[in-house]
Amino acid sequence: MKSINGFSQKRQSMIQQFSHIAPLQNYLAEKINEGQEFSFVPTMGNLHEGHLSLARESLKDSRNSFCVFSIFVNPKQFGPKEDFHNYPSTIEEDIVKLSSLSKEMKKDILLFYPDNQQEIFPEGFATSITVDGLSKILCGKQRKNHFKGVTTVVYRLLILLKPHRTYMGLKDFQQQFLIKKMVKDLLLSSEIISLPTIREKSNLAMSSRNNYLTPQEREGEALCLYNTMLRVKHALENSSLSLKEKISLFNDEKEKTLGPHSKWQYLELLDSETLKNITSKTKTAQIFGAYLCGKTRLIDNMTIYLNP
Ligand code: AMP
Repeated sequence: MKSINGFSQKRQSMIQQFSHIAPLQNYLAEKINEGQEFSFVPTMGNLHEGHLSLARESLKDSRNSFCVFSIFVNPKQFGPKEDFHNYPSTIEEDIVKLSSLSKEMKKDILLFYPDNQQEIFPEGFATSITVDGLSKILCGKQRKNHFKGVTTVVYRLLILLKPHRTYMGLKDFQQQFLIKKMVKDLLLSSEIISLPTIREKSNLAMSSRNNYLTPQEREGEALCLYNTMLRVKHALENSSLSLKEKISLFNDEKEKTLGPHSKWQYLELLDSETLKNITSKTKTAQIFGAYLCGKTRLIDNMTIYLNP
């Protein structure tokens, strides 16, 4: 299926696979010359409906003639003790899923699946992009250089591909928030569009890391975070409590144990617009949680309407 220059084409499925950046850039330049616009969905693969929903929604937009979908497990966003080397890779299945999505949407999907890290970070690459402050809170506290790795790889991809619109999941709220800030600060041209979290029937947020859960964890303690967030949402939205009382109610929730095999990394309530502490003027707040369910780190978030 692959030709020498790393470009391959399987027209009937409307999936085109690129393992090298240069042929992909040439292809994109041709399409742009023809006046076409395209969407971009950056992922690390092991695809589930959360990832696919981003490409599907992007292709529903008539302005996007096709979608570039990247699968790249970015070493720069993993800490030394994290799961970079074991991150689940299911490229064959991923291609089947993208292929069937492309048929469903009747639009092309260009899969960018780099052969090696040098395609994105060439030998000697030494620059990084950091969004000060915001990359040190929430997940940034536990995962030291994580967001520096994320913003650096997304910057690189946006510069290499120049997509008109980039689609990201609200499941990783802090991530899309940081990327929007980076795009604004560095005057990048892609519009960042954030889409809702896709959940399993049980309401567990879909995640590639859910594969690490045992069946018992999946049906039991993995749901603690969602249930906690829902409880807080109901309590805070359906009450006429003062700000102080709301914060105190929220803090009480943090004291509750999750389950015998789970441990909070954080549970925080922040203004959705600023990611700062809520005030009496906050209209929408975001509850953010991260915890260890057995050995698996799970994150999720939920919007709370405080002053509708
Ligand atoms: P990842 O492969 O985990 O780096 O995720 C790639 C993109 O998919 C990011 O924009 C994520 O926010 C998004 N994503 C992951 N899980 C979900 C989900 N359950 N619902 C919606 N988007 C998701």
